[in-house]
Amino acid sequence: MPSARKQTEDGLFPVTGEGRAVSLFRLILGFMAVVMLAFVLVEGWRIWRDYRQVFINAENAVTNLARATAQHAEDAIRQVDAITAALAERVEGDGFAQVDRPRLHALLKQQAQIMPQLHGLFVYRADGSWMVTDKDAVPPNANNADRDYFIYHRTHSDRGVRIGSVVRSRSTGDLIIPISRRLDNPDGSFAGVLLGTIKVDWFVRYYGDFKIDERGALVLAKRDGTILVRRPFVEQVIGRSLAASDIFRKYLPYASEGVAEAVAVVDGTPRLYGFRALSSYPLVVEAGLSRESIIAPWRHDMIKSVLVLVLVLVGLCGFGWIVLRQLRERIVIERALHQAHQTLKALALTDSLTGLGNRRRLDAVLEPEIRRARRQGYALALVMLDLDYFKAYNDRYGHPAGDQCLRRLGEVLRQALKRPGDLAVRYGGEEFTLLLPNTDAQGASQIVQEILLLLRRQGMAHAGSPVGLVSASAGIAVGMPSVEEVTPENLMAAADRALYQAKRQGRDRYCLATGMEAGTPS
Ligand code: GH3
Ligand code: MG
Ligand code: MG
Repeated sequence: MPSARKQTEDGLFPVTGEGRAVSLFRLILGFMAVVMLAFVLVEGWRIWRDYRQVFINAENAVTNLARATAQHAEDAIRQVDAITAALAERVEGDGFAQVDRPRLHALLKQQAQIMPQLHGLFVYRADGSWMVTDKDAVPPNANNADRDYFIYHRTHSDRGVRIGSVVRSRSTGDLIIPISRRLDNPDGSFAGVLLGTIKVDWFVRYYGDFKIDERGALVLAKRDGTILVRRPFVEQVIGRSLAASDIFRKYLPYASEGVAEAVAVVDGTPRLYGFRALSSYPLVVEAGLSRESIIAPWRHDMIKSVLVLVLVLVGLCGFGWIVLRQLRERIVIERALHQAHQTLKALALTDSLTGLGNRRRLDAVLEPEIRRARRQGYALALVMLDLDYFKAYNDRYGHPAGDQCLRRLGEVLRQALKRPGDLAVRYGGEEFTLLLPNTDAQGASQIVQEILLLLRRQGMAHAGSPVGLVSASAGIAVGMPSVEEVTPENLMAAADRALYQAKRQGRDRYCLATGMEAGTPS
């Protein structure tokens, strides 16, 4: 059948609204799941992208900071390097004995004044005693032979500049970085040491000017890891070694500059560091931003986004819940309607007295059954059954007894019809109709005989009947729709004619119709 609304066997249309509501329910549920998933994915992607971006920005910031501080340190030391080189040339050239001390003092003083980073310039003799400095007063009996740089130069003949670890100045008490060279006699023997000192404080002030958070760090260290300057400045940290840190162990041996995430050995803070080894001196700078300070703004933003997302999802869920609840209510109502419809349909097709089907039921089924018999090529029997002398029965025993009699006949019919396809209806009054698919004349006769017998066996007394019992007459019509023209009308008419014949022949019997063609009974 091409129609989507398939007609059922009882000839009525089924209710399909419930099915549609259920699939709409699923559709909305699926749609909401997809929308929510999309929200979560898009937000998640955005948060992840922002996270990557704050780190890219921080990498750029620490790289720039490291470059600036490295350049600054290099410039500061180069100036001291240059002046000590020039002074060494002069002292060695003139010879220690010939040095004009007042003139040299004036020169040192002048140089010290034009270099703000400079703490002092000193010339020591081979025994460690002070020969000349930029200071006006020399501490009496001062001797620097015990200093680390002095011992180094006395025992090493190299002429290069040497950057020492931070020491406290004997003349001023300041923390200073010693930058020294060896002075030679013309014969190459040790003549003394030339020293320029840079104030740690000068770096500290410079580093303090950078706008980095409290937990950020700027470090100037020797290549062996010894800390010279650090922001935040804590005196105890000066001189400590970074040799064990990740940057000195894992990165600096392979690259002179770069970016690395590491936990500081000094204060245990996880930071993103930009590091850079100076090109001209064995020094390293590190510029670090704390992980916390990098992430905090992103985290703040992320929490806001997640809150908004949660609100949106809750809103969506609430909305969906309301829609789905209404839909579910509709489904419940439709189910109830469907059931009511089914009940009404059953009631409309049922005979209330006998519980059998009624005439409407037969009307609905007859035509489809004829079509089916035609398609499948089998015979279809229709039986009309009418109680004998029933008017007289009613008159004598009363209408309620008549009704009881009809109910008994209903029971008999139900008993006699065994196949699920068989149908018995009360066609009207005391007339019943049987529809027996796939049944020929012989089969139908057998069933009718059994019914008539069963009815008599009920033993319902009927004084108005010649047999003394309630009996019935029946007319059987058998059609073969595949070979002859069979319609509900001609089948009923044939059965009716046969019934009339059975009545004429004396009742309490059945007759078989001879054919489908319209005409008077034979
Ligand atoms: P016949 O043998 O020729 O069929 O005689 P009859 O008396 O049965 O004839 P008829 O068909 O004229 O009578 C039908 C009677 O059936 C009329 C009515 O009193 C009775 N009857 C019809 N419907 C009902 C019903 O629902 N309940 C009762 N108790 N009697 C009914
Ligand atoms: Mg009748
Ligand atoms: Mg009758």
